[in-house]
Amino acid sequence: MPARPPEKAGSAGSAGKLSAKRCPICGKPALEAAKPFCSDRCRDVDLNRWLSGTYAIPGKPDADEDAD
Ligand SMILES: [Zn+2]
Repeated sequence: MPARPPEKAGSAGSAGKLSAKRCPICGKPALEAAKPFCSDRCRDVDLNRWLSGTYAIPGKPDADEDAD
């Protein structure tokens, strides 16, 4: 059995390994400069989705916590 370094879940730092992250917008391999997107363009698309309310925010009811 070959000795293997323990694989951690999540970011594993810079161990010389290519990140297999893919752009959530178009599915292309993510670019280091635009992580986690493949380009500034896709990052912009994602941002616009947020701004236009495409993304739902679960666990955030419109309750009046401030009500006294
Ligand atoms: Zn993309």
